[in-house]
Amino acid sequence: MAQSVQLSNPITKSPTGITPVVRSVADLRNVVAEWRRAGLTVGLVPTMGSLHAGHLSLVTRGKTDCDRVIATIFVNPKQFDRAADLDGYPRMEEQDRALLTGVGCDLLFAPSVSEIYPQGFAAQVALQSALTGCLEGAHRAGHFDGVTTVVCKLLLMALADSAYFGEKDYQQLLVVEKMVADLNIPTNIIACETVREDDGLALSSRNVHLSADERQLAVQVIRQLRDVAQQVRSTDGPLEGILNAACQALLSAGFDKVDYLELRRAEALDKRITEGAELSRVAGRLLVAAWLGQTRLIDNIAV
Ligand code: AMP
Repeated sequence: MAQSVQLSNPITKSPTGITPVVRSVADLRNVVAEWRRAGLTVGLVPTMGSLHAGHLSLVTRGKTDCDRVIATIFVNPKQFDRAADLDGYPRMEEQDRALLTGVGCDLLFAPSVSEIYPQGFAAQVALQSALTGCLEGAHRAGHFDGVTTVVCKLLLMALADSAYFGEKDYQQLLVVEKMVADLNIPTNIIACETVREDDGLALSSRNVHLSADERQLAVQVIRQLRDVAQQVRSTDGPLEGILNAACQALLSAGFDKVDYLELRRAEALDKRITEGAELSRVAGRLLVAAWLGQTRLIDNIAV
């Protein structure tokens, strides 16, 4: 068992007040089993670390719903489609742990890659659906298979009552909800609102890669989304021109590429909304992915 955890009495707080860390599945399960024996409810917040106020809002929400909250930090190699993105992904566990301590997180699970994917690991959890084929799925080969495989494993390791996911990754949220429903995983998936900077930019671990100039431009993503949302709400007619103009506006502002900027049905994302009139019958979600230099920004809002 990990020495860094108070396994003698893990249902109480660590005496130092610092969020304890475990690195093995066995230690994680021991702590959760103790909590369960004491009748405590458990929340889970899966992350890839480099934590910001968006991640911490999930922990805080978990703390309001559950007696104990576990955050996980695991930079999952299977969900990266570009080696440079994986290699350059920011890692700062000590700082993350201090932030988790600040919001009263009860346990940090920070496993190695070999703990999650031991030699010979051969399983894969994948949805065969239009949901994983569009938007992020169309632009990042294998991304959602990596997400569903690791999230399924984390959910089964912790068997928490609830797990918290951000609407920032709206498509991922729907993918996780669908996987949990289809596999009867006994954990409630709780969606949490996107936390933004004062100017509206969605917080993201990747924002640290933006230069000062790029950071100034980055705000155009949410500005365009809000602008498009207003326009599509006030027309019954075709939306293609509005969406194309917003793409063009991002490119003219200095974005290098727009992977997509689309309005889709919010509950399944499988169908585009092409006419404003449809919005009186179905809820819409406006989603965008755009490149500023080497940094890919994603965002979305309800319409
Ligand atoms: P990541 O570490 O980027 O994999 O994100 C871990 C979790 O935090 C995911 O459920 C994300 O959707 C969520 N998250 C990331 N950024 C934000 C944000 N700005 N607001 C709310 N949740 C977020």
